[in-house]
Amino acid sequence: MRIVKTIDEVRSQVKAWKAEGLTVGLVPTMGYLHEGHASLIAASHRDNDRTVVSDFVNPMQFGPAEDLESYPRDIDHDSAIVEENGGDLIFNPEPDEMYHKGFSSFVDMTVLTEELCGLSRPVHFRGVCTVVAKLFNIVQPNRAYFGKKDAQQLAVIRHMVDDLNMDIEIVGCPIVREEDGLAKSSRNTYLNSEERRAALVLSKAIFHGIDMVRNGEKDCSAVISEMSGIINAEPLARIDYVKIVDCSTMQIITTLDRPALCAIAVYIGNTRLIDNFFTQDVQHGGVL
Ligand code: AMP
Repeated sequence: MRIVKTIDEVRSQVKAWKAEGLTVGLVPTMGYLHEGHASLIAASHRDNDRTVVSDFVNPMQFGPAEDLESYPRDIDHDSAIVEENGGDLIFNPEPDEMYHKGFSSFVDMTVLTEELCGLSRPVHFRGVCTVVAKLFNIVQPNRAYFGKKDAQQLAVIRHMVDDLNMDIEIVGCPIVREEDGLAKSSRNTYLNSEERRAALVLSKAIFHGIDMVRNGEKDCSAVISEMSGIINAEPLARIDYVKIVDCSTMQIITTLDRPALCAIAVYIGNTRLIDNFFTQDVQHGGVL
């Protein structure tokens, strides 16, 4: 397993692999890896001959008042996780390597970014689409792996690949959770012990929503209202959004009459956490 900092090094390694006829998987991350990232790396290792993990806290996807400076970083810890899960190369560039002086080209998206995190974080998806398009051009993978944890991001990337004719298979992987239900996230490290306990309202609300859908509830406002009630009962929690959208357009729907995404964003103290479920993943008797 190698760690490289430059685009040239990634390109020449991937070129050598492709010359041998090997397939390449890409796992884009912002580092501070946990079992959620590990599951993506393991999936890529299973499906491809070689796996590249990008480890880059992308300044372009953070708003001015967000946590770019405090975002946790630990490349030694990350390299151990990549190695354990069968990754072959970590691309860990400095911001200057990705965005040279005078950088002025962007990939942006409409419609799918109007709701959910796109509404709360106006510059976020332009930063995500631009960096992911760049990573796709740099690595030119056969497949790329994204978590359902960031469900709107997964939908946006699928749409970008389709709209811009990128010849890359996008693979969506299930949410990995802590034993008590909290979705794993690099941002969970911001929580103190009281906040960590309070953060359980997210998964509690999600599991309740899943139960309602499994029991046949079709009215989105009923699901949203009961989930919001659970979150609002926790004094340390403040709802950013609890919404249900069409799973391909990411536009609000009122009735569960098609595949849908139920997504939540909640502040616990100053930490903004997200969680979700896709209605098509909800089955009688087992799930998620
Ligand atoms: P991040 O480093 O937070 O930008 O995440 C990198 C990738 O890991 C994204 O595709 C995320 O959706 C995915 N990911 C993050 N947390 C989880 C999780 N708990 N379960 C599954 N995938 C995750």
